[in-house]
Order: sequence, then structure tokens, then C-alpha cells
Amino acid sequence: MPDRLHPLLAEWPRCAGKPVKLQVSNSAVASLHRGHPWLYAERIKQESHRGQPGDLAVVFDAKKRFVAVGLYDPLSPIRMRALRASKPGPIDRSFFAERIRKALLRRRSLLQTQTDGYRMIHGESDGLPGLVIDRYAETAVVKLYSCAWLPHLSDCLECLLEQQPLARIVLRLSRGMKQHPDQLRGLEDGQIIYGAPIRATLTCRENGLIFEVDPLRGQKTGFFLDQRDNRARVERLAKGRRVLNVFSYNGGFSLAAARGGATEVTSLDQSGPALESSVRNFALNADIPAVAKARHLTIEGDAFKALAELVKQGERYQLVIIDPPAFAVRRSQVKEALNAYGRLARLGVKLLEPGGDIVLASCSNPVSPEAFRRTVCDAAAGVGRPLQQIEETGHALDHPLDFAESRYLKCLFCKA
Ligand code: SAH
Repeated sequence: MPDRLHPLLAEWPRCAGKPVKLQVSNSAVASLHRGHPWLYAERIKQESHRGQPGDLAVVFDAKKRFVAVGLYDPLSPIRMRALRASKPGPIDRSFFAERIRKALLRRRSLLQTQTDGYRMIHGESDGLPGLVIDRYAETAVVKLYSCAWLPHLSDCLECLLEQQPLARIVLRLSRGMKQHPDQLRGLEDGQIIYGAPIRATLTCRENGLIFEVDPLRGQKTGFFLDQRDNRARVERLAKGRRVLNVFSYNGGFSLAAARGGATEVTSLDQSGPALESSVRNFALNADIPAVAKARHLTIEGDAFKALAELVKQGERYQLVIIDPPAFAVRRSQVKEALNAYGRLARLGVKLLEPGGDIVLASCSNPVSPEAFRRTVCDAAAGVGRPLQQIEETGHALDHPLDFAESRYLKCLFCKA
């Protein structure tokens, strides 16, 4: 190993306390047996003592039989995140090494696709709930969702570095964790916890396309890795076409369309810095003849207003991509979110030449695939442009779906 983990982490006190013993409701037992790793505080009937974040918690059923062991977090409504269920066993370096090995093995096929920007660890779906690790070439970005990870992080990251050499690791903390600065012992969101500071723009490759990544100021951990396969599908639809990419961020779909042979690509986003990044990403890929040949335009503004304006101007495209941010994070927001998807679908089909393709995505977790599909289909039909040949897709393989709650992305490919 060329470097060492930041001393704050390397010297983080290990859990000294006894494991917390939890007796929980029958329904919680059943849910843990089914492999759901979250135990909510209100499902706990008895707690042996109040532990510290990161202490191990062992769950027993009414007959005092082992159910699960996991990370205890008294600061979170998710009081325990299970690491092992059904069979007891140690939670130590060899445990982390094995989970990481399995996760990296699942993603091995990506390495044959000129891709070094991908999610290495997808939390719950990779058996490490509350921990996400994205890789951008030689840099990893670790996103923690619970203070319970802090006492285990150095073990876990040392195992990762043994299997996947890296130049640096950046730490990102969830909003919930930032509310507990007393627990962080000086660790900060955005801190480099391993390796050299970031001195130049970081880049990664997705199916051979180069993108700049800003893990500190960018959205998510720097790039929307979950859309990789859908971008590849867009690339196959783009030849000879005029393309509109709405909510374009740093131009992921725009670059894919350009390499696929689009004559013109318009990136539309309300964020000026995101659009500037998309322009730089076109420049980074200018040695690809199709990218150099495609005309790239940007529109900065609110998508709803800008699309209405384009409709008014009589603009037409042969391929329209609409991949907005999450409109709903809670159930109570679903109705409003569906309204917004409906409006976008109506505007999108109005801008589409007959026989064109439209791609509509939703990353709103509480919006079901059925409700999303029905809403956009009804909206398009309502303006006389019914959607046809609908293909539904989801996340790329580095966002496995073992955990039902992680099934957030819905993407429809349609003709209209
Ligand atoms: N399609 C992108 C990811 C989109 S993320 C990709 O493939 O990487 C959502 C984007 O929508 C962000 O860049 C954000 O700046 C932009 N955005 C959010 N609200 C918007 C609005 N009302 N109008 C236009 N853009 C918006």
C-alpha cells in the first residue's frame, strides 16, 4: 500500500462495548429473515443497554434464537443495519474482505467495456447497508449514511485497498450524519481520507467516453453512474438525428448521442456549471470523429419553461431524452411528481417529429413503475401522440437490485 489512511480514521477507537442485545417484534424477525437489513427503532421490544454508534447489535426472536447481527445506530430511526442474518458469525476484516470481493466480482464484466467510473459498493444490495463506494478511475468516493460505519471504516477500506489499488479516497457524509458533528471527531464531508489531494480535474471513462468528475461539488458523488446502460441505448438510437437532452447535467446522454452519430445535440439544464461541464466533456472527447462532427448546443433554464418555449418556436427533434431529478422522495409527494412527469411527457412528444423516439426516466423512489408508465402514456395520448413500442429498463449492473428499496430508476424508451 503506497499510503496510509488518514490518522483520524486509522486511529478511530474500535468498539469496546458489549454487543447490544435486541428483542424485536415478530414482524421485524420475519422481515430480517427475508433478508431486509433495516431494523427500525419502533420495532424493538427490549434493548439490553444503550450502545454507541457502530457497536454491534444482535437480534433475537421471542424464543431467544439468533436472528441477525449488524451495526447499531442510536442516532438513526434505522436502529440497526444487519450485516449477517440467519447464521451468526464475526464482523471483522475477513467479513468485509469477502463482501468486497463479491461486490467487485459482480462488476468485473464492466472492466472489459472501457469503463472505470462505476459503483463498487451499492450499500444494502451488496450486503454493506449504509455504505456506498463509487470509483472514478484511481479515485474512490465513499458515501456514508450512518455514523455506525465510522469505527469499522478503516478495516473496511484497508480491505478495499488490498483488492483495488487506488490513488485516493474521498469521504462524503449523508445529511443525517452532518447533523451530528460531535460524532465525527473532526472528520468532514469532502475530506480526502487516503492519498493525495485533488490538484487537477478528475476524469473517468464510461464505455470509452471521458467525463470530468467533481466528487466535492458535483451532484451525487460526481456523476450519474446509474444511467450507463440507458446512455448506451441512446447511442444506438441517435444516428443522423437532431437530439434534445433535457436535464442534461454534464452531458452523459448528449455525448452518447453524439458518438452514436447525432447531427446536433442540445443539452438543457438549469445549472450553468453543469452545462459548462458538458461543453468541456465534448472537448475531452473531440478525438472521436462523430463527437467532433456533432453540433452541441446548450440551453440554460427551467426545463418546463424552456420546453414550452421550444414548442412555441416550432422546434422539432427526432430523439428527446428527459431524465429529471427525483420529484418525490416521500409518498406524500407522489401525486405532484406524477403531474410533473405528465407535463414533461406532453411537452416532450410535442417536440418530437412523428416516428421519433422519446426516452423518459424517473428516479423518484416512491413512484411505482406502473404509475410512471401510466402517467406518461396517458399524457402523451392526451395530446394525440400515443406512445408505442415501449421498452422499460432500469439501472446498470453496478446498481444491483437485491434490496427492494434500491429499485428507484425507471426508464421508458418509446416511439411517438
Ligand atoms: N440526465 C443526467 C442526470 C440528470 S440529474 C445524466 O445522465 O447524468 C438532474 C439535472 O436536472 C441536474 O443537472 C439539475 O441541475 C437539473 N435540474 C433540476 N431541476 C431542473 C429544472 N427545473 N429545469 C432544468 N434543469 C433542472
